[in-house]
Amino acid sequence: MKGVFVSCLVTVVSAVAVAEPNTLAVLGEVRLKGPMGERLDRMLRNHVVATDTEYITAPFLEKTERHGWWQTEFWGKYMHAAVPLWTYSGNEELKRKIDAGLATILASQEPSGYIGNYPDELRCGEGWDVWGMKYTMLGLMHYYDGTGDKKALDACAKVCDYLIGQLGPEGKRGYPLYKSGNWAGYASSSVLEPVVWLYKRTKEQRFLDFASFLVKGMTEAEDGPRLVDLALKGISVADRNGYGLQPDKNGGYVMKRNRSKAYEMMSCYQGLIEYYEVTGKEDLLKAAIATVDQIIRDEINLAGGSACSESWFHGAKKQHRPYVHLQETCVVTTWMRLAEKLLTVTGDPRYADELEKTFYNIYLASMNRDATEFAAYTPLNGYRYRGHHHCYMHTNCCNANGPRGFVAFLRAFFQANGTKAIMNFYASGKQQIKLPANGEKVIFETYTQYPKKGFVRMVNHTAKQIPFTLSVRIPAWCASASVRVNGKAVEQPPKPGTYCDITRTWTIGDVVEVNFDMTVRVHELDHYIAFTYGPILLARDTRFHDGPIDEVFRRGQVTAKNPPQFLLAVRSPSDDIWMTFSATVPMGSHHENPEGFNWPEIRFCDYASAGNLWEPANAYRTWFPVEYGLGE
Ligand SMILES: [Zn+2]
Repeated sequence: MKGVFVSCLVTVVSAVAVAEPNTLAVLGEVRLKGPMGERLDRMLRNHVVATDTEYITAPFLEKTERHGWWQTEFWGKYMHAAVPLWTYSGNEELKRKIDAGLATILASQEPSGYIGNYPDELRCGEGWDVWGMKYTMLGLMHYYDGTGDKKALDACAKVCDYLIGQLGPEGKRGYPLYKSGNWAGYASSSVLEPVVWLYKRTKEQRFLDFASFLVKGMTEAEDGPRLVDLALKGISVADRNGYGLQPDKNGGYVMKRNRSKAYEMMSCYQGLIEYYEVTGKEDLLKAAIATVDQIIRDEINLAGGSACSESWFHGAKKQHRPYVHLQETCVVTTWMRLAEKLLTVTGDPRYADELEKTFYNIYLASMNRDATEFAAYTPLNGYRYRGHHHCYMHTNCCNANGPRGFVAFLRAFFQANGTKAIMNFYASGKQQIKLPANGEKVIFETYTQYPKKGFVRMVNHTAKQIPFTLSVRIPAWCASASVRVNGKAVEQPPKPGTYCDITRTWTIGDVVEVNFDMTVRVHELDHYIAFTYGPILLARDTRFHDGPIDEVFRRGQVTAKNPPQFLLAVRSPSDDIWMTFSATVPMGSHHENPEGFNWPEIRFCDYASAGNLWEPANAYRTWFPVEYGLGE
């Protein structure tokens, strides 16, 4: 019997080609310096520590939510970043804020276990009550993870027991959980993630049973989210409405029966991957991978962002058009978490490529200069501005979610598997991790200006002289790269889109030097062109005062096959602009004129810096029109 079970297990695992998942570094053992370290410190100080936890927990004491709104998501989202960043920094003021918020949350818990702000008759139904409980559960477990304080875990278990009693198989409300809330059950069903977290931490069978009940609703109910069958049939995320549900046609923000909402859908896959981790049910992982791969192909733009009005829309091929409700920060951070999770589970560097692109472009673009705020929407062309107020509060979903994106970047930065230490990202700082195979701690000190420059220098600081493999990620965008150890090139030339494995007995002071080819690439789309430098999307910005940023490129002169030899890094005019490049390019509207014939010299900056004054006068553009000719 035992033999049959094992052989089945082997078949199951090899079918999806999943080896052991990567392990993560302890937060704080990957420390950033340079521009990213400063950015993180600024966000920590001005956003996370500065958050008024009394303000965001006050609604839990009120129970007056009659609009079906989402005031109860803000605290859990805050904790998603606050606790990991307290672990990262040890900031005592942050710990006091976290403790004050937790005290209010615990005081608000009813004997039934409920934590929320809906009156009893409106709970667990329409609106965002279950969604709020999801974030509350995540917040409580982050507290438990960070402090080991069991009262937070007990409170979380009581919330889950309340949910089981209301919306479980024998629930008092008389309908299954996926029937509550919005977006064909996506919003409520995404509570799967904390339910599995709770099972992982308590090993209580009733929580795994509840998770199985949720997964059934998410995958088997004809009118439910249908996250597996539609994915495995190859139905694109933008085309999953219908299929057993008459779609809503009202065009409003909240849809009861549509399946196009990006953030809520991805949150469900996050839970399904967690459930796969405890049950080994491979279809769930396959469906998540199929969906994410399709999102990468059809939805992700050059800034690593996606979705319009938070919905999938085949956005990759429309990214040059003037959509404004683009790349909502909640969608961005949820995408980063999902990419980080798949990278960890599968070890596939494509997910690191995606996470890196999103981080350096749309994620940093959505954060304002002093990191006090995140934008709600960030277009690819236009100007940046602050987001809305939500639910009669001076905050919104995106400000609450923003810091989580940085945590995803940190968690993916340096991972390990067996005797491999895996360097996924490059930034100055110190990286430490324990190898799971033998418990040895591996340490590197990195100096780089990446991605401003393609050179990275890593010095081994591992105390003991020990053998291990350092896996260095070679991004897929990179046409060529070189890797040298103590000045000597590695034997196998590094291949883009893979890891370059360096296996040796390491001595303190061993130096690894990596050079990435950062040659600018041209992207063409429907008579528009855009430029990327390494992972960075380039933009024109009105602060350079170098002509109209909407001016056309001359027909046929700059194409993907004929990229310009044009980019020179130059001094930035202000500290607000991270990267500046000078270029002499074939553009202009009056080239019949002898002076107009000459190419202008213009500037580009990184997309994250473009428009970061957050005012209409500071406009930017990433997709540039190409002149049409007669007969086109
Ligand atoms: Zn949002």
